[in-house]
Amino acid sequence: MVYSKKYSKIILIIQRSFMSSKENISNGSCPVYKKCGGCQLQNLSYPEQLKFKQNKVERLLRKFCKVEPIIGMENPYHYRNKVQAAFYTDRRGKIISGVYQSGTHHVVGIDSCQTEDVIADKIIVAVRKLLPSFKMTTYNEDTGKGFLRHILVKRGFATNQIMLVLVTGTPVFPSKNNFVKEILKQFPEITTIVQNVNNYNTNLVLGDNQKVLYGKGYIEDILCGCRFRISPKSFYQINPVQTEVLYNTAMEYADLKGNETVLDTYCGIGTIGIVAAQRGAGRVIGVELNGDAVKDAIVNARANNLKNIRFYKGDAGEFMYEVSTEDEKPDVVFMDPPRAGSDTKFLDSLIKMSPKTVVYVSCNPETLARDLDYVTKNSDYKISKIRPVDMFPHTAHIECVCLIDRK
Ligand code: SAH
Repeated sequence: MVYSKKYSKIILIIQRSFMSSKENISNGSCPVYKKCGGCQLQNLSYPEQLKFKQNKVERLLRKFCKVEPIIGMENPYHYRNKVQAAFYTDRRGKIISGVYQSGTHHVVGIDSCQTEDVIADKIIVAVRKLLPSFKMTTYNEDTGKGFLRHILVKRGFATNQIMLVLVTGTPVFPSKNNFVKEILKQFPEITTIVQNVNNYNTNLVLGDNQKVLYGKGYIEDILCGCRFRISPKSFYQINPVQTEVLYNTAMEYADLKGNETVLDTYCGIGTIGIVAAQRGAGRVIGVELNGDAVKDAIVNARANNLKNIRFYKGDAGEFMYEVSTEDEKPDVVFMDPPRAGSDTKFLDSLIKMSPKTVVYVSCNPETLARDLDYVTKNSDYKISKIRPVDMFPHTAHIECVCLIDRK
């Protein structure tokens, strides 16, 4: 999201009375479709969306190998386990919560969304309604004044643990205890509440300082039979149903026989490496830039009784370079970079390291195509399999798993 001062004063308010029933929203006729911009494909039926994505992946990647059919969702609604809302107070003092209009800082008022978890949406509306009675103001990005900036709700679909993160512009939270008591009265299923202070002029939702107001300060979820701890700032896949499909594909492609040394690069909270260790990898080493995620990964390995696994904090490219200079080489490398894809430092080291199998999990087929181009032009690796998995129904985002080997 690009911050644009020019636009920040124009706030688009979509009256709640315009919102149609949830059934209508689920039928693809969301009233804020154009203004929100989040669901770029909702003018298409779900089968058409899948076809659109399949075609796009084929266009970009078929030069490398045949693209397998995309795996879609049985029920492609309310799949997001993480929901964020921004706040704004209009001139008449009415508080609006919702999302930023795509590419701007206009707040589009939204109470429920076809992609978001239903309980998370209800919690956000309830917090908004409580603000006036607790004299809690909303943060103003122009003046840097005000209190509540964002809300973040994460829910473990398998455990039903719920985390509420209140992102505030200032650390002082006068009515803290009563507010926590009231929201817990309305939603006893919330298992932890965290205050995160973000007083920077930034696009990032979360700041550096946080304080646990209730519960443990994290939630847990279960994926592929493994238990994972998720902190407010750690990356965790937002569609747990399809994440299992994604990880199962990654494991199928890796074809672990046991005793392999496996690298899990861009590992987040260690999910792929932990699933690999559970499925027989001899030894797993993970690397991740985000320190909070690395801490979670270490705890997660222990919680799943895995001893053959180590996690390191650092840049994946730097780490790969270091490993490529060592004698002991990994057999399998999983890579799951952010949308920007990988970099030449990483890919050059990967080629030098020469593992038997590389499994590339990508959330952006454009950068995947670029990276595959680089690898195939600079080594004798071939692309053997590509399978798209629909992690983000109704949006234009596409996830793919790709097998790189020498067969
Ligand atoms: N494999 C994980 C996370 C994938 S998201 C999962 O499936 O959940 C990509 C991850 O890469 C994020 O956790 C992000 O913090 C991390 N990351 C981004 N740039 C990085 C870099 N240069 N080096 C290492 N990790 C990086």
